Amino acid sequence: MKLENEDALNHYIICQQCYTLNEELPIEDGSKACCAECGEILYRYDSKLIDHALSWSITGLIFFALANAFPLVMIDLLGSEQFITIPKTIASLFANGFYIVGFLCLFLIFIFPLMILLINIVLFTLLKTGRGEDLTKELLILLSRITPWSMADIFFISILVALVKLIAFGQIHIGISFWALMAFVLIDLYITKSIRIPEIWMLRKKIFPKEAAA
Ligand SMILES: [Zn+2]
Repeated sequence: MKLENEDALNHYIICQQCYTLNEELPIEDGSKACCAECGEILYRYDSKLIDHALSWSITGLIFFALANAFPLVMIDLLGSEQFITIPKTIASLFANGFYIVGFLCLFLIFIFPLMILLINIVLFTLLKTGRGEDLTKELLILLSRITPWSMADIFFISILVALVKLIAFGQIHIGISFWALMAFVLIDLYITKSIRIPEIWMLRKKIFPKEAAA
């Protein structure tokens, strides 16, 4: 394949499965384009993606707030009751001198997931209103950098493992936040699975066509 200049690359898309370069063609609303070599989905075009993504991100934020506001579990150890909340867990790590683990937890299960939700909300609101050409670009770059670092799902699984181990020592009562966290993790997984960053870039290109042509 011979490309005349670098701009010509804008019309090609690389397959994440087999790394074949495919030409990017306009497709109908609700359909998807597949790789010519291996059949992997390259991109989808869904005009409702923005509304969809915005509503899921707001729902995710509500569950994230609930997960952090109420007790995750209550442990009854030899008559003394202990409420465990996410902020309290992080704070107690710092209080006990586990600064590195504390910082890791703070970023991986609190700051990054919160940032991703807020970026999504701002990004999709801007795309919906057709504003912020440069800001949406910066936000998309930031989003692709921090998405791999959001680990609320791993945190949730480690809570489950810890609970199974603690059952042997005392009575455990599941709190509201536990269910809120579960809902948040499921929404988070759904957003990451169904709203892919390359597709948001393509949507952005459709909304701000001037820059793509320049
Ligand atoms: Zn392929």
